Amino acid sequence: MRLSRKTGVWVCAGAAVWVASGCVASRGGTAAVGAPAASVSTAPVSEVETLRPPLLGFYGKRLREGGIPILGHASVSDEALFAARDRLRRILEHAPKIRHNLEARGHELHIVGLRQFTSDLPEHRDQRGARRDTGELFDWHMIGGHIVGNLSSCTEATLLPIVGHRLFGTGPCIHELGHAVELLALSNVVRGRIIAAYRHSMESGHWKNAHAAKNEHEWFAELTRYYFRRDDDALAFYDPSLSRGHEWLRQADPEGFSLVDDLYMGLTDPGVPRTQALHLGPASAEASLRSRKGSEIPSELRVRNVTTAEIRLVWVDYEGRRDPRLPFERMPAAAPGGTIVESSWAGHTFVITDASGRGLCTVTAAEDDGVAEVTGACP
Ligand SMILES: [Zn+2]
Repeated sequence: MRLSRKTGVWVCAGAAVWVASGCVASRGGTAAVGAPAASVSTAPVSEVETLRPPLLGFYGKRLREGGIPILGHASVSDEALFAARDRLRRILEHAPKIRHNLEARGHELHIVGLRQFTSDLPEHRDQRGARRDTGELFDWHMIGGHIVGNLSSCTEATLLPIVGHRLFGTGPCIHELGHAVELLALSNVVRGRIIAAYRHSMESGHWKNAHAAKNEHEWFAELTRYYFRRDDDALAFYDPSLSRGHEWLRQADPEGFSLVDDLYMGLTDPGVPRTQALHLGPASAEASLRSRKGSEIPSELRVRNVTTAEIRLVWVDYEGRRDPRLPFERMPAAAPGGTIVESSWAGHTFVITDASGRGLCTVTAAEDDGVAEVTGACP
C-alpha cells in the first residue's frame, strides 16, 4: 500500500483504504500520490496533540475528526489514531447529519493501546475482571472495542492491524462505530425501523448462527462492518471469510443492505435523537390507561426519585392491568435520589407507586426518550 504525506498528514491512498481491516499504516511510502516528493521539504507538523497533563490522568494524545476527538494513551502510536480517523471518515463521508448528531451527543473515540486491555481505559476500569451475562470475562469479549454512553473504543492491534491478533483483519472498529451511529445518531423513529428490519431479516433466514443474529444492535453493527469492506480477498489466503464485504452484503441481506446504504449515503434522514420532559399524570388516571399495542418505536424512560422513600415503576399492559408477568417486588425500583431507567416503547404507559404499591403518578413513554422527576403524589 502507499501512504501520502500531505501537509504532514498520513492518509491511506487508493485501494489500500479497503484492505480488509482498513488502512494498514506503514511507513513504506513517503511521496504524496500525484505530487512530486520534493514538495515535502520540511518535517511535517503532526495533527496529533500531546495532552499534558493527560486527560483523566490517562489520555495523552488527541487527534480530532471535526468535532469528534480521538484519544489514546501516550503509548498509542500516531498511526493508530490516523487509522481510527480513517474509519470515522469512511462512515461519515456521505452522512453529514449523522456526523452532526454524533458531534452534538459528544461522541468520542478512544484507542486501546497495544499493551492495554479495554478495562485499562478510565471509563471501563470498573469492568476489570467482571463477567458478562454469558459468563465471558469483560476483557475477553471486548478485545476489539466497546461502547458505553457516548464513548466508543477501538483497539490499536486491530487498527494497524497486528498479525496474530484474535480479530486480525475483521474490522471490529467499524463494527463499534456502527454501534455509535445506531445508539447516538439516530432518532427513535429511525431506530424503530432498524428493529423492524432486523426482525424481517431474521424471518428471512439471514445470518444463521452469526453474531448479527444476536439482536438488532449487533445486526446493525455487523451490516455497517460489511458495508464498509471491499470484497477483495487480500487476506482470504488466511481466512476465506475475510473476502466478504460490500457486494457480498448486497446479496446476503438485500433489505438490510438497502437500509444501511440509504443511511450512510445520506438518503435517509437520521432525525434528531432527543430527550424530553414527560408529563406526570395523577394516580387516578391509572384506571383508564392502556399501553399502545404494536408500537415499534423504542423509547427510554428515566424516572428520578426526589421523594424521601422508595418508588417503583410498574408497566400497565394492553388491557390496563399492572404488569402480570412479574411479582410487584421485582418491578424496577429507585431509592431516594436514585433513577429508574426503563427501556420501553412509545405509547407504553406506567404507574409510579410507593413501596407498598400505592399509586403516586402515571406516565406514558413518548417517541423521544423521556425524563420525569417524582416529588410525591401527582395532583
Ligand atoms: Zn457489537
